[in-house]
Amino acid sequence: MSSEDYKGYRGAALSTLKNFHVRVWSDVEVETSRGKFTGIILPRSETADDRHVVLKLRNGYNIGLAADTIHAMKETGYKKANYKIPEKEFPYDPRKPRVKLFGTGGTIASRLDYRTGAVIPAFSPGELYGSVPELADICNLETEKLYGVFSENMGPEQWIGTAEAIGREIEKGVAGIVIGHGTDTMHHTAAILSFMVQNSPVPIVMVGSQRSSDRPSSDAAINLINATKTAAESDIAEVVVCMFGPTSDRYDLLHRGTRVRKMHSSYRSTFRTIGDIPIAKVSTEGFVYFRDDYKHRRDDKNVTINTAFEEKVSIVYYYPNMKPDIIEALIDNDYKGIVIAGTGLGHVNKPLYPALKKARDKGIAIYMTVQTLWGYVQMYVYDTGRDIMELGVIPAANMLPEVAYGKLGWALGQTSDLKEVKKIMLTPIAGEITEREPHNGYLIYQGGIPEVEEFISRNWK
Ligand code: ASP
Repeated sequence: MSSEDYKGYRGAALSTLKNFHVRVWSDVEVETSRGKFTGIILPRSETADDRHVVLKLRNGYNIGLAADTIHAMKETGYKKANYKIPEKEFPYDPRKPRVKLFGTGGTIASRLDYRTGAVIPAFSPGELYGSVPELADICNLETEKLYGVFSENMGPEQWIGTAEAIGREIEKGVAGIVIGHGTDTMHHTAAILSFMVQNSPVPIVMVGSQRSSDRPSSDAAINLINATKTAAESDIAEVVVCMFGPTSDRYDLLHRGTRVRKMHSSYRSTFRTIGDIPIAKVSTEGFVYFRDDYKHRRDDKNVTINTAFEEKVSIVYYYPNMKPDIIEALIDNDYKGIVIAGTGLGHVNKPLYPALKKARDKGIAIYMTVQTLWGYVQMYVYDTGRDIMELGVIPAANMLPEVAYGKLGWALGQTSDLKEVKKIMLTPIAGEITEREPHNGYLIYQGGIPEVEEFISRNWK
C-alpha cells in the first residue's frame, strides 16, 4: 500500500483503515454502533481530525464515521474517482457572442466534496466544455481563474481585483461576463461589485452551486448554462445573481445584485430577492422579464470602475441586552463606519446610547438597517427611533444590512467628509434603496407553495 492509499488519514482513523485492510477509494460495507453503512472511503483533508473515516454514501452525501464506533469494514470493490475531466477543445463559432468566465472558487469550481481535499477546479474552457457541452451552443467562452477560495475568504482584495478584471474585459469588448463564486457570500460580492462597477454596457452575472457536480442533484450545470446564456444574450446590463428557481430545476432567477440574499443553508433554491421581485427568469427556452426598470444592454465599451474601499467598517447585529462595550471596542479600534442591523423599524436598547453618541462625536459614520430584511427603517415612529437619530445614527431606508456594509466601505473609501458620505449612502446607485416594496414581492418566489405556483403560471406564462 502506498501513502496515497491512506491520503490524509492519521491516528485512530488510519489504524482503523489498516486493521480492516481497506483504503481510500475502497467500496465498503461498514458495521458501526450506529448501524450499517455502504459507500466509498474518501480521502481526508490533511487539516481534518484524526478520528473520523469519511464515507461517500450511495445517495451522494458524505458522512464521517468515528473510528471508535466502527466494528467491521469489508472491501467489496475499489472505485478511484476520475480526477481528470475529459478536455475537449471549445469550438469557436464566429457567429456566437464572446463571454468571459472569471473563477473565484466555491463549490461550483469543485467536483468532489471540498472537505475531503479532493477538489477539482474545472476552469479551462476545455474542461468546462468536457463537463457542460451545452455551453458551446451559447457562446465562445474564455475563462480565467482569478482566485480559488471558498467564499468566506473573499474580501476587499478579491473584490477590487474582480472589479478591475471586469473593467479590463469590458474595455476589450465582450458580450457579457460570468463570475463563478461560492454561494455563501455571493450576495456580499454582488452588492460590492454593483458599486465598484458602474455603467456597464453588458450583463455581469454571478453564479454558484449549492451542490458539487459529482452529486446527482447538483445545480452546477443548470446554473452555469443559464448564467452563460444571460451573459451572452440578456438585455440586463447590471450585476445580477443567476441561481436556481424556487421549486424545480426548470429555470433560474435573475436577482439584482443589491437586493439578493442567500436564505437557506442547503437548499438549491437558496437565493431570494428581498424587498422586491427578481428581474427575470431564464431557462434554455429564453428569458421572461418581470420588469423593465433595469439598465439595458448597450453597444459600447464604456464602464466606470471605482474600487475605493475603507476596510474599517463593521456590521453590528443588535440583540437584546447588548452591552455598549461592543460599540466601544469599535471606537477604540479606529473603525470609521458602523452599520447596525436593528430590531423592528430600526432600534437598539438604551444602554447603547452613550456609546453611539461617543462614536458619532469621534466622526464614525453610523447607519441603521433592519434585521427583518423586508421593509424600511422608520425611526420617526417610536421614541426609541427618534432618540437614536438624535445621537447621529442615520436611517438607511430599505438597504439590506450587508449591502449597507459594502456601500459604506465604498463611500468611506472615497471621502471622509461625513456629509459627502451621507449623500453617497442615501442616493440609490444600483437599486439598493427603492421607493417602495411591492406587496407581491414578499409573496412570490418564497418557496413554491401551491398558491405561488398558481400566481406565477397565471401571470407569467
Ligand atoms: N462554502 C462554499 C462557498 O461559499 C459554498 C458554495 O460554494 O456554495 O464557497
